[in-house]
Amino acid sequence: MSVTAPAVPAHQDVLGHPKGLYVCFLTEMWERFAFYGMKALLFLYLTKHHLFSDTDGYLLLGTYAGLAYALPLLGGILADKYLGMRKAVVFGGILLVLGQLGMAYTGHAASGIQGSGAQDAFAVQVMYFALALIAVGVGFLKPNISTIVGRLYASDDPRRDSGFTIFYMGINVGAFISSIVVAWIGETIGWGYGFALAGVMMGLGLVQFIWGQRHLMGQAEPADTALLRSPWIAGISREWAIYLGGFVLAAVVWQVLQTRIDFGPLSSLVGGHEVTLTELVAVVLGAALYIWFIRLMFSGITRAEKGGMIMLMVLITVSALFWGLYEQTYGPWVAMADRVMDRTTFGVEWTAGQTTALGALFVIALSPVFAWLWPRLDKARLNPSYPAKFAWGLVFCGLAFGVLAFAAANPGSDGRISLWWMVLAYFVLVLGEMVLSPVGLAAVTSLSIPRAVGMMMGAWFLFSAFGEIIAGRMGTWAQIPPDMDAAGALLVYGGVFSRMMWIGLAAGMLLFLATPLLKRLTRN
Ligand code: GLN
Repeated sequence: MSVTAPAVPAHQDVLGHPKGLYVCFLTEMWERFAFYGMKALLFLYLTKHHLFSDTDGYLLLGTYAGLAYALPLLGGILADKYLGMRKAVVFGGILLVLGQLGMAYTGHAASGIQGSGAQDAFAVQVMYFALALIAVGVGFLKPNISTIVGRLYASDDPRRDSGFTIFYMGINVGAFISSIVVAWIGETIGWGYGFALAGVMMGLGLVQFIWGQRHLMGQAEPADTALLRSPWIAGISREWAIYLGGFVLAAVVWQVLQTRIDFGPLSSLVGGHEVTLTELVAVVLGAALYIWFIRLMFSGITRAEKGGMIMLMVLITVSALFWGLYEQTYGPWVAMADRVMDRTTFGVEWTAGQTTALGALFVIALSPVFAWLWPRLDKARLNPSYPAKFAWGLVFCGLAFGVLAFAAANPGSDGRISLWWMVLAYFVLVLGEMVLSPVGLAAVTSLSIPRAVGMMMGAWFLFSAFGEIIAGRMGTWAQIPPDMDAAGALLVYGGVFSRMMWIGLAAGMLLFLATPLLKRLTRN
């Protein structure tokens, strides 16, 4: 890292970390609070309020979340070159507040049958625009708040890793609280109230960031303030051109979110489906990234560097499949919890959206365990290689689906399945997340050649975006026609989840087989 933080008198630290870390922690905590609270409600809101068909609900969920993870590539580049991280976070925060509050306008509920009801067309358009504002807002905020954390520490500061661990906790604390609170309010009091709460808390997070920005030690400022302020086009400065461009981009995303392409006679090539514009864009972006990568491989890098980069690219590619399975949690898992699950435990009936809190809860619980485990395995020379860890990630992910497939085949006497199966499934799934997600971030920083780290980090999130899009498409396998009974729905969920189990297990096994080969790549 070229920019390092100035030495700060230790007495200004709080609990051994710079104050700025807590500013970033709280900002990202409230941003993820809003993001995951809204995501927990989205499928239910689409299918129960606007009466989207299951298929359209899953596709929109994947398209929206896919764009929200793809746009950070742009937000990161704009902040590096012009805006600086601090301004990018503030602007992203404003878009997020507007978007989350925009979701609170719900119009009137559609009437008729799910999939063919008469919708409030105006309210649906407001919702698409709100989703677009959120996707662009995440693009400006998420990559940059993470970069600021890195800049608070000097390059050789041993506290950096634990700083990131604390920051990742903030993500999951936000996700956990909102899955409990926002989902409950949205499902029981009213959808709009849940979305509004997400917006208000994002707003408080933004105010907190603006108030706390003095603790960022000047590490998040624009590269060239004079350039940013000088008039650029038609008397408008670069800074304002970027802000206006952000709104124009939101208008473009508003349309992209709802555009599908019909391939006519060629549609059998894509399984007879219409393809969303986002899926098409994803294929083009993916191809462009591989071309960039292949050119990099022939740009005079050493054999050892090449080996590490190839391994990293394989890992990043595999991660898209992992997220494609993992993100079923906000689609078919929520639908299953809503429709065929007895959600009462300890005398409390949890809502379907609230079940997503289990993921964040297990991340919070398991993070310290894994932080303790890795160095010990390392000492005992038992620490698995990156590809082996990723293979385990896929295997755990497959097994989590196995748990739910088994549960679907063995409902209780009331024809529903117990919430405890979902608790177990989330536990196994998060074991997979722990050996893949934080490990992946570490792999990017250690396997990449220095001049490509930023781009490879962007690629990491871009493949999360592909994962979301894959999740949306795979989710459509689990569509339930509106007139199907619980037994029929269980049959569908059971079939789809066992298929997903085999995909995870098979991909994990293949990666285990390829591991010795990949390890040889990085051996000098
Ligand atoms: N759950 C993490 C977050 O929201 C990571 C998600 C991802 O990389 N797909 O930040």
